[in-house]
Amino acid sequence: MSNANLVERGKKVLMNTYARAEFALVKGDGCTVYDKDGNSYLDFLAGIAVSSLGHNHPKITKAIESQAHQLLHCSNLYWIEPQIETAEILCEKSFADKVFFCNSGAEANEGAIKLARKYAQTKGYSERYEIITMNKSFHGRTLATLTATGQEKFHKDFKPLMPGFVYSDYNDIEMLKSKISEKTCAIMIEIIQGEGGVNMIDKAFVEELDAICKEKDILLVIDEVQTGIGRTGKLFAYQHFNINPDIITLAKGLGGGVPIGAFLAKDSVALALSPGDHGSTFGGNPLATASAKAVLGVVGDNNFLSKVNQKSDLLVNGLKKLAEKNENIVAVRGKGLLIGLELNAPVAGAVKKCLENGLIVGTAGPNVIRLAPPLVVSEADINKAIEILSEAIK
Ligand SMILES: *Cc1c(COP(=O)(O)O)cnc(C)c1O
Repeated sequence: MSNANLVERGKKVLMNTYARAEFALVKGDGCTVYDKDGNSYLDFLAGIAVSSLGHNHPKITKAIESQAHQLLHCSNLYWIEPQIETAEILCEKSFADKVFFCNSGAEANEGAIKLARKYAQTKGYSERYEIITMNKSFHGRTLATLTATGQEKFHKDFKPLMPGFVYSDYNDIEMLKSKISEKTCAIMIEIIQGEGGVNMIDKAFVEELDAICKEKDILLVIDEVQTGIGRTGKLFAYQHFNINPDIITLAKGLGGGVPIGAFLAKDSVALALSPGDHGSTFGGNPLATASAKAVLGVVGDNNFLSKVNQKSDLLVNGLKKLAEKNENIVAVRGKGLLIGLELNAPVAGAVKKCLENGLIVGTAGPNVIRLAPPLVVSEADINKAIEILSEAIK
């Protein structure tokens, strides 16, 4: 069996929804992954900001293995020990009092949207149901989160969309103010637009947005599906600013590779939900939450996060040096280990060159290379990645 064999069989039986590279990954260790033909790659995408502790991390594999021997699943009709422990950690380390677990980012955002609408009803704002989201945002692929996603290219063949979403430009506070109406129940936003080009939120914009939300009792929902769990050098990206979100959503990095999502809220908001309002058969199951608990045990440590920031400096400074020598690089931006490298032309060719030279990177829109290595990446691997990128961009 080879890459070519698997690619051919996969094309026969899997829906054609991804533009996949022509190889199958079969194994990983640390920041290195291996394909079916035995080629190795330095993994600077981590399964799209998921495998934050790299591959085959002993604490995660051990947590999963021992939980598998105990109990894989039992439904939410009963209390689940690792689910409670994971929620305790998330609440202790954030603004939140309550957690709801689900299985993906889209599902976390769906839940946040439902909670925002229910909160408005509970508060007697019977006319409020609209949610303002940003142009170039990304919130998921289900119908509600697809509608929340402010990018027409994802909408066009799937209409009619969900009613009740309004779009505004990122970092444009005046436009945002003009979109707020008596119907607005929430504003949902990313701290860094991951899929939309690795665009950073402005401090002044997000802090004023927060103040407006508080003044009008509009919920501030932060989609931290990509930025959460240490990705930006803080456990949650909202913690870079002086803001008080009402709801945050998590997924990608939370389970270290095991599918899990969550939305978190303060009691003043979370208590709007009662038994029967929301649910998920698999949500927060023992296996997924045992893994998340192990991830938080490592990433939740301030020493670990300060190392992430040191690595970020090394990577960003290396890329900025490249940019000085190479006029094809338009910008280097991002925070922590979520970095965008914008070129003055489509990046598809450079991404392919990187793969040929043993480096996996991602994209964020046509002109941006997205780097999201495991948070445990070594300095040597960062230097090697910069070398391969330099070669690919020439
Ligand atoms: C990936 C992503 C999602 C969707 O998550 P899925 O697990 O693919 O459903 C939502 N929001 C943001 C910011 C994301 O990066």
